[in-house]
Amino acid sequence: MESPLDLTPKKFDYYEPTSLNEAIQLLETKEEAKVMAGGQSLLALMKLRLAAPKSIVDITKLEGLSYIKEENGYLAIGALTIHDMIELSPVIKEKYTLLSDAASKIGDQQIRNRGTIGGSACHADPAADLPTALVAADASFVAQGPKGQRIIPSGDFFVDIFTPALEHDEVLTEIRLPNSPPHSASGYIKHSRREGDFAITSCGVVLTTGRGNTCEDVRIALGSVASTPLRFMNAENYLRGKALDDKTIIEASNQKPEGANPPSDMHGSKEYRMEMIKVFTKRSLKLALGRVK
Ligand SMILES: Cc1cc2nc3c(=O)[nH]c(=O)nc-3n(C[C@H](O)[C@H](O)[C@H](O)COP(=O)(O)OP(=O)(O)OC[C@H]3O[C@@H](n4cnc5c(N)ncnc54)[C@H](O)[C@@H]3O)c2cc1C
Repeated sequence: MESPLDLTPKKFDYYEPTSLNEAIQLLETKEEAKVMAGGQSLLALMKLRLAAPKSIVDITKLEGLSYIKEENGYLAIGALTIHDMIELSPVIKEKYTLLSDAASKIGDQQIRNRGTIGGSACHADPAADLPTALVAADASFVAQGPKGQRIIPSGDFFVDIFTPALEHDEVLTEIRLPNSPPHSASGYIKHSRREGDFAITSCGVVLTTGRGNTCEDVRIALGSVASTPLRFMNAENYLRGKALDDKTIIEASNQKPEGANPPSDMHGSKEYRMEMIKVFTKRSLKLALGRVK
């Protein structure tokens, strides 16, 4: 009989493809196959027997999926790029700061050395840091499968809790972040009890200012308050065209976050989390505003 304390995953077949085509073929043909990247989320689920794939397709031997490159109009990040590289990348720190803010807050150094941005996106945990930052940054997601390549916008990628918009035989290969116009800056703040814990709530902001310190454009995403990262549309709509002073920022943060329905659990009640949305939206807006050059 299985012991409830047994933290060994169920038996599975292990494959280590060396090309993307081979990986896709394995996903297509092997029984209940699942991609494994850093294994930092998947292995934990398997040990807890919350996931029991019959076949594991470990993609970490695939060449050319770990990079951060400036392309014409966007930044391209390979799906196997680890959190530590995102945190420390000079171009991300300078131009996509909310992503390095988010990556720096993930778990601990060991997890940041193994976990990948693609794995974090595909795991689609609404309490995770990078998915919320990616929605605020209006990222798009490049998936490769037997039928070829497709590009999924951030608004469509996170379908539900732990559910990305990928077919079982598709591999996420790249994440693209559009360039921001001049006078833009971003910030991400996570609220957690202890450093490295998952977010009680979190907020990512990308802000573009216009003449006289007005808000020309803004995207705000909230983490840990719904089954997917949630755009805070009412706050965005309130801010556009207004002067970015304290009063406006507080008013924007106090707007109703449509779709927010955070759980009550040992980390905080629903009411507490709803209050924290206001606090962390305000702080993240101020953080981004303070970074505009
Ligand atoms: C103790 C601990 C603390 C953590 N704390 C935090 C935290 O504070 N904040 C946070 O955001 N995260 C946290 N994490 C999760 C961590 O960020 C993981 O690295 C991340 O969620 C998954 O990345 P991975 O590369 O390890 O993916 P894996 O675990 O290998 O895979 C995760 C899922 O994505 C799928 N997948 C992976 N890559 C691809 C791909 N390229 N294409 C298609 N499907 C793919 C897998 O099939 C699986 O379903 C923590 C994890 C642990 C163990």
